[in-house]
Amino acid sequence: MALNIPAEVGMPLAEVDTPCLLVDLDAIEHNIERMARVAAEHGVRLRAHAKSHKSPDIAARQIAAGAVGVCCQKVSEAETMVRGGVRDVLISNEVVNPRMLARLAALAATARVIVCVDDADNIAALEAAAAHCGTTVEVLVEIDVGAGRCGVAPGAPACALARAIAAAPHLRFSGLQAYHGPAQHVRAFGDREALIERAIAATRDTVAQLAAQGLDCDIVGGAGSGTYRLEAASGVYNELQCGSYVFMDADYQRIVMADGRPTDDFRNSLFLYTTVMSKTKADKAICDAGLKSHSVDSGLPVVFGRDDIEYIGASDEHGELGDPHDRLVLGDRLMLIPGHCDPTVNLHDWLVGIRGDRVETLWPVAARGMSL
Ligand code: PLP
Ligand code: MN
Repeated sequence: MALNIPAEVGMPLAEVDTPCLLVDLDAIEHNIERMARVAAEHGVRLRAHAKSHKSPDIAARQIAAGAVGVCCQKVSEAETMVRGGVRDVLISNEVVNPRMLARLAALAATARVIVCVDDADNIAALEAAAAHCGTTVEVLVEIDVGAGRCGVAPGAPACALARAIAAAPHLRFSGLQAYHGPAQHVRAFGDREALIERAIAATRDTVAQLAAQGLDCDIVGGAGSGTYRLEAASGVYNELQCGSYVFMDADYQRIVMADGRPTDDFRNSLFLYTTVMSKTKADKAICDAGLKSHSVDSGLPVVFGRDDIEYIGASDEHGELGDPHDRLVLGDRLMLIPGHCDPTVNLHDWLVGIRGDRVETLWPVAARGMSL
């Protein structure tokens, strides 16, 4: 049986099978370099989030450009990154299932492993797992700085958890995670800024309370691709954990900067390549990119470089294209900017790296489906 590989190195883009994910290598290199430069200019570390690409190949490029390591969201994702050569991994999430705690503790034998907690019983379970393995796991207290998802309240409740971590022989208290997810995607700059100012204040206060108790934060982490400049300039955060910047997506492109212009820090590097497979109507066409090849939870994709064509609907294996001027013909190729990059990548086995109109490399999405 043939492996489901959509392209071969050296192939012209026009011969690549669809639907598949393309990575524009010039654009991703620009994005990796730009984020690394902003972090360096502000004197903060970058710990790029690997949930976006799930690719040790891309992680290696981020680290070569200056990132200290990666974030992962799940233990199995972290295992994949360590197997792929990454030596420093933060699981920016809580881990509760006993088997996963055991795998996390075991992973700490081969790499620096950091995890988040927001609960005292979870600290005890983590200590037991690390003791059983004879490893040391680093731990961040996750504080809820307004996102309303995981995280203990800033201030005294966070300090109580930090003391419990510091008292556990196989755990090390390494600092705080203070990530505000919803703020990332808020359209207007002023609204994003107001949310992050509150997050910064809560984080600064918690760091000060910890210091008063003799607990120093090696890591004060947070920030995503929508707000990272604010956290970087805060004087409190010292690690950025942005992920989507490496690809960008249609949803992120809708946020605007302080001057009201669309954000232009990063270029689109991720495209869903698709072929027109049916053209039986004058005003529309059907392409081969449907729900099984991209995620539409943050809105439909945008057709790259074509303002005459609109992606108007998706079913399982079909995409509906508005073609009001009857321009498309059977076999036409289009590049779609996915609405939401992270879950889209998780639908594919391969990233096809292109330079101009030629395939230069193929990267496996090695952590595809790694959601344990
Ligand atoms: N950190 C955490 C905890 C996240 O959940 C996410 C994304 O959802 C990120 C960082 C990266 O954010 P972004 O992809 O918006 O850059
Ligand atoms: Mn996302």
